Amino acid sequence: MTRACVLCGGVGAARFLTGLVRVISPEDIGCIVNTGDDIDVWGARVCPDVDIVTYTLAGIVDRDKGWGVAGDTFTCLETMARLGEMNWFRLGDADLALSLVRTRLLGIGRELEDATAELVHRLGIAVTIVPMSNERVETHVTTPTGEMSFEEYFVREGCRPEMRKVRYAGADIARPSRGAERLLRESEVLLIAPSNPLASIGPILAVPGMRELVERFDGPRIAVSPLIGGRTVKGPADRMLRAVGFTPSVEGLATFYDGLIDGFVIDEVDSSSAPELEGRGLAVHALPSLMDTPARAEAVARGALELAKEVGRP
Ligand code: GDP
Ligand code: CA
Repeated sequence: MTRACVLCGGVGAARFLTGLVRVISPEDIGCIVNTGDDIDVWGARVCPDVDIVTYTLAGIVDRDKGWGVAGDTFTCLETMARLGEMNWFRLGDADLALSLVRTRLLGIGRELEDATAELVHRLGIAVTIVPMSNERVETHVTTPTGEMSFEEYFVREGCRPEMRKVRYAGADIARPSRGAERLLRESEVLLIAPSNPLASIGPILAVPGMRELVERFDGPRIAVSPLIGGRTVKGPADRMLRAVGFTPSVEGLATFYDGLIDGFVIDEVDSSSAPELEGRGLAVHALPSLMDTPARAEAVARGALELAKEVGRP
């Protein structure tokens, strides 16, 4: 039995978790999920990454898109569009229902982690899912036309504008959620999912106290690369890394995670980088990392846990 804690964004993390639940029992998995791209839609609090992870583990995610609920309808969205309300964020009706429950719970004074636990429980998920923080932290991106939230950049602008800067607004006064702190103190293995380092893992690490908890984690810490041959499977991670001065490569990622990881799972196409990474003191495992089927995701999860065993870490 291994108790694992996973730092998570959305789609990349969810794919990895699909594999991880096939290797260790769901009760032994805890996810600390990014909330830097949370957004209010028609008065409802939407937590895109928490929801992707939740829907995936509940087995109701729209597999083709990787987010949203399978078979969802968009009646509310269509009506909002007709009423001249915001309609660039494609929130489905089932998705909205979940967000409304969360919003109601927050409205009666529950903290985000308690509202999240309640939803996870109601959906029958055995994995622990906690937001990184109960306070609001927002990933903001600076483009030539000004600063915008990550979802505005990602969804409304389709990642088209040039990105110049990334910042985590509100991070200075946030704290790790109680659940996040507990997972980082009590788990035996720390895994960093193959998520966008700047849009998903960066906000988690920006919460004051979180980086120290990762640095002092009492066990092996393994990251899985979201880059394959220097490119993202999907999304702007490579461009974002470049915008803030990191090369979009496994070497660049190792620099980004410097001091936070002991081992690195990279794709087999990047295996020529292994000696350089090992030279920096990292244990490396190169394997086919495209998780387009549950079986392939399982192999990646197994690889990460094997590497954790190898590293041990005093
Ligand atoms: P988002 O919050 O939904 O954008 O998702 P994440 O931040 O969790 O994940 C985005 C990252 O996941 C991208 O950089 C992708 O390259 C990476 N990713 C998605 N699918 C895979 C996969 O099958 N294998 C690997 N190695 N990375 C993946
Ligand atoms: Ca996200």
